[in-house]
Amino acid sequence: IDLIARSRVSRNVTYCCYDSLPIPFGLVNILGNRNSSYIPILRLPNWRVSRPVLIMASQPEAPAAEAPPTANPPSTKQTVDPWNVSGEVGEDGKVKAIDYKKLVEEFGTKLIDQAILDRFERVTGHKPHRFLRRQIVFSQRDLEVILNRHEKREPFFLYTGRGPSSDSMHIGHTQIFDFCKWLQDVFDVPLVIMLTDDEKFLFSEKRTVEEVIGYARENCRDIIAIGFDPDKTFIFSDYEYMGGAFYRNVTRFSKLVTYNVAKSVFGFNESSNIGKIHFASIQGSTSFATSFPHIFGDNEKETAKIPCLIPCAIDQDPYFRLTRDCATRLKYAKPSLIHSRFLDALQGPGSKMSASIDSSAIFLKDTPNQIKNKINKYAFSGGQETAEQQRELGGNPDVDVAYQYLQFFMEDDEELAKLGQDYREGKLLTGELKAVCIKHLQEYVSGFQERRAKATDDVVKQFMSVRPLNWKGNPRVERI
Ligand code: ATP
Ligand code: MG
Repeated sequence: IDLIARSRVSRNVTYCCYDSLPIPFGLVNILGNRNSSYIPILRLPNWRVSRPVLIMASQPEAPAAEAPPTANPPSTKQTVDPWNVSGEVGEDGKVKAIDYKKLVEEFGTKLIDQAILDRFERVTGHKPHRFLRRQIVFSQRDLEVILNRHEKREPFFLYTGRGPSSDSMHIGHTQIFDFCKWLQDVFDVPLVIMLTDDEKFLFSEKRTVEEVIGYARENCRDIIAIGFDPDKTFIFSDYEYMGGAFYRNVTRFSKLVTYNVAKSVFGFNESSNIGKIHFASIQGSTSFATSFPHIFGDNEKETAKIPCLIPCAIDQDPYFRLTRDCATRLKYAKPSLIHSRFLDALQGPGSKMSASIDSSAIFLKDTPNQIKNKINKYAFSGGQETAEQQRELGGNPDVDVAYQYLQFFMEDDEELAKLGQDYREGKLLTGELKAVCIKHLQEYVSGFQERRAKATDDVVKQFMSVRPLNWKGNPRVERI
């Protein structure tokens, strides 16, 4: 013990004194950054361990912040995790666009290439969604498994979620739901949508349980307004649904994940509350069909084989890397994933639109005028300073926020390509491009608001009630 303690310890060592004998207790962080390995220090089996009388840390630790402080020091490197999204900071101090190809390498996922898109089209008979055609949904894990099952008419389901952090979602949050709705229509399978109200309580200093429960209901209305089919969609709040088969899986999951692993996957530290550390088992267990006996039946042996496809933004991948590992050990089907990139902040492609930075986002409750003003005032332009320069030199649509948003919202590929080309050649001015973007966003948001007005309390109740679902390939329905 002494040897380990003396040889490697520089910081972050917590000593625990049992009676008056000081022994190092817990873990030694050797490198002091996220990639470090941790050596558990042995406690000898024949030690009589009494109540700790003193615990001291070699460094005073900051109180847990809103996001779990990742163990790595502030860096200029690109950071993408469930709590931070930022491009690399260049030597000029400017934040660069997020490098999504690099993420595919780092996370060990696969790029969605033309071959899998062709297969998708052959198997489903549908032209790939514009997000797939434009590499907005750009990465995957085991998508082939899902396509094979669809081809053989074997069951699977879709799973996505939302952390209800405020009463109105922004247009960045709805993109993955729009895509999910399309997948639900194409595959005709059940969809489960998890509202992680517990997470939004555990990860915030300020929010109360009552607040997050209220946000979950409001966000549920937003999600219903996407247009999901109530026959095939189960929306649940963790606070309401926890228990029964779901909780059994949560505990099975949490038993497999050590603190050590949670620290290295998510960057928690000794100041992180234990709820945060445990939360991964809740988000992970939603991937298992056995968590939903009202949808898939009680025969756990059969249900265990049903996988899900999880459409999510790429920052959520760490949760599911861990889940895939646990699934194998629990003999459950591993979830497949399909990852999207972020809708940029209005300020540019180095960060994502964020609810807590009002000027970065277009909210779904914004009026047409607010949308127009935000785009005109804040949307980063890839154009030149003056109209004359723009005509002469042309602009850069790749960093232009209005153009980037149109990639998400404009259906017509040719029209989009022409706008990009005209902008590059200086035939189109920044104000003109912004006007096209404003029109598309206003239409999107007002269509959404009309549908949302129809999502009454009764409709919310319908989507959130624990009930069987109906989809074409449901073997339970065929049996009946
Ligand atoms: P806050 O600023 O309060 O953190 P937020 O806008 O970042 O809010 P979160 O509640 O943190 O929203 O987002 C939850 C998840 O939603 C993210 O982890 C990400 O997967 C997805 N998401 C958030 N913003 C975007 C975006 N701009 N584009 C795509 N997905 C997003
Ligand atoms: Mg956030």
